[in-house]
Amino acid sequence: MNHRIPALAVWGLVWLFAASPTLARETSHESALEVVATIGMIGDLAENVGGPCVKVTSIMGPGVDPHLYRASARDVRTLQHADIILYSGYSLEGQLGAVLERFSRMKPTLAVAETAIGSDDLIKVQGAYGVDPHLWMDVGLWSRTVARLAAAIAEQRPACAEASRTRAAAYADQLAALHQWVREAIASIPAERRILVTAHDAFNYYGRAYGIEVAGIQGISTESEAGIADIRHMAGIIAERRVPAVFIESTINPRTIQAVIEAAADQGQAVRIGGQLYSDAMGETGTAGGTYIGMIYENTAKIVDALGGRPPPLPPALRAWAERWEIADEQAES
Ligand SMILES: [Zn+2]
Repeated sequence: MNHRIPALAVWGLVWLFAASPTLARETSHESALEVVATIGMIGDLAENVGGPCVKVTSIMGPGVDPHLYRASARDVRTLQHADIILYSGYSLEGQLGAVLERFSRMKPTLAVAETAIGSDDLIKVQGAYGVDPHLWMDVGLWSRTVARLAAAIAEQRPACAEASRTRAAAYADQLAALHQWVREAIASIPAERRILVTAHDAFNYYGRAYGIEVAGIQGISTESEAGIADIRHMAGIIAERRVPAVFIESTINPRTIQAVIEAAADQGQAVRIGGQLYSDAMGETGTAGGTYIGMIYENTAKIVDALGGRPPPLPPALRAWAERWEIADEQAES
């Protein structure tokens, strides 16, 4: 679906468009702000905060791995038409760095998470990344991007400032409720089973925020494959802790986790796949998992269920969201 083209051709397009300013931009002040986001989580944030003031396009769809993603010719055209470009930052979109840098000289280009979340709150990691970029996994941290985005929209569309602030406040309330719900849901898992085994290290912020140990087989990025030693090591942990379930990820080839399951079986521990988690991309548009709240909610529901916990009822602030997506709150008191 993505037509990969050589980097040189992308540069050609970037320069071509740079040399030809579009007329549409001059006359677009009354129309919706054209927002182009890299990952879906940022696009969803922009839709929630911007409402009718924005028209959002996310260039990375469901199942797309942001660590490896390169800009296609189509992406460059999409970015050219943007009024503002939003990306997460902290090297998440590693292969897009140079393209984003070029566009930042032509139009507002904002590293949303990087400018909203300071270095004190980051998880430092070894290797090229330096910091773990999977910040959306801690809802409390991620919610700081809400005010940042409201400010950016207000700057671009002063007429939308008031409405964006109101929407931002309402959305922040939903995220605060979600954060508390996830915390309680994870706490319902028996303590010795509170361990999340996944393919790559996308869940460190989740683990820190919600009190569950995280063991990723691969590193922070997906650029390197897990080796035999990593797989054997993980199987050892699973056998020792009697971990009942491990998880696959929507953006990662499940082969690695299959190898771990087989290695654990060799060590006498039967372990099953607890489900597929959203790690670096949301689900299909038009489904609950295609929203940020749904991504976190569905992940948590699967983790809690597979590891033997029982999630609390959804908080009142999320009832409207659940109704919209027809999510039956099984735990709700009747
Ligand atoms: Zn990742």
